[in-house]
Amino acid sequence: MNRSGIVYIVHHIDTEGPLWENIDELFDRLKVIFGIVMEPTYENLEKLQKGQIDMPLSKKQEISVAVDPHTIGFKRNWSMIEEMLLRIMVPSFRNDVSDSFGGGWIYNWHVMDHVGFGFDNPRHRDMGHHNIFDFYTYIIKNTNSTQDKIHWHFHPIPFYKQANIMATSYDNSISTLHQILCRRLIDKNWFPVVNRAGFHAERSDSNLFLEQWIPFDPSNLAVDESHQPMHQKDQTNGRFADWRGAPTDWSLYHPSLYDWRVQGNANRIIARILNMKARHRNISIEEIEKAFVKAANGDNVYLGITNHDWREMAVEIDEFREMLQIVSKKFPQVKFRYAETVDAFRKTIGYSDNEIENNKLELDVSLIGDTLNVDTLKGEIFGPQPYLAFKTKSGDYFHDNFDFQTPKRSFSYVFDEYTVPLVNIECIAVASNDKYGNTFIRNINPQLNSVK
Ligand SMILES: [Zn+2]
Repeated sequence: MNRSGIVYIVHHIDTEGPLWENIDELFDRLKVIFGIVMEPTYENLEKLQKGQIDMPLSKKQEISVAVDPHTIGFKRNWSMIEEMLLRIMVPSFRNDVSDSFGGGWIYNWHVMDHVGFGFDNPRHRDMGHHNIFDFYTYIIKNTNSTQDKIHWHFHPIPFYKQANIMATSYDNSISTLHQILCRRLIDKNWFPVVNRAGFHAERSDSNLFLEQWIPFDPSNLAVDESHQPMHQKDQTNGRFADWRGAPTDWSLYHPSLYDWRVQGNANRIIARILNMKARHRNISIEEIEKAFVKAANGDNVYLGITNHDWREMAVEIDEFREMLQIVSKKFPQVKFRYAETVDAFRKTIGYSDNEIENNKLELDVSLIGDTLNVDTLKGEIFGPQPYLAFKTKSGDYFHDNFDFQTPKRSFSYVFDEYTVPLVNIECIAVASNDKYGNTFIRNINPQLNSVK
């Protein structure tokens, strides 16, 4: 008889801080998504919620989910988010439904920075570097939640730089993207290892960008044809969450360099995630069953679920746990475990602890004269080059390419009049992941020539 695999339940939160929306904003959004033109009144909202409008049933259903009191019940300020987190990050909530090993719920916080946007911020997002990162660092420490980790999330900037409008182009946002990475690395000693695609959207430019630095990518929101949203302008015909053709059986895959949705020869690994109580592509009993069937056949399975910190997460987690218990009872032989994402990727891919430790990336980073040298001592970098960031004494942050000495092994960078003279540099940082999800980071202070 086949030994069952384990279903790893991995909860990814797109962590964006508070989100405000008044009734005018809500009706504007409904107009854009569904083409509904109605007076923005609470009476009309109630009509939409009760489905008392003249339109086809399938459209009515999608609208009623979009205006459900839960869906539009946003956490409007940090106090509301803090109140929620202090409820859901405690052992009593985490252990309400423990996993097959007695473990409690685990959170993977994909933290973004709202930077690069203009003054048009109708939904009152918290603008600035590190605001959300610092809040979650504090709350994780304060609640002693060492099992939870902070990960990566980025929103590309739209043409008119509105903070509430979705966009997909990394190329159009590239300087903002590197500013965020440089500051996280230099100010916080932090480098991303797991990506959650902003707006669930990947394209050719983000596909290539991610492939350079980040080995794990739980962003595949593919659903079977019958579950595709049909009436939401931002979600049909490949707008935003375009995962058409990607696996829907919970398998991991290496994408193609030419198409992120299909299997190919890129190095990063994409996992599937589904929404929790959102207006499209939600997790369901049927989908959880698919994961348990796959595990019953002997595979470890990565079951990703995702939501936002600006909605009531307790309701969404409780709903998921109810479905999970129903499925789990049907498959008593299959164990499930709540997991941190890096750990779940490793277990699902099949890396052993020994392999991960024996090949753990180590680089030698040294500054000789005006030249920074980076040499591989152990393991192998993910992607073509380590990430280089530096900060000048006047407070500017920069990223640049290395000069390649031996590809994949040895790199250098010269600080002089073609770049920035070393005398003007306050701090240099070098980071890289390996394919196992080990992250290597070194900081150098050129004045002291100290490495740490
Ligand atoms: Zn997002």
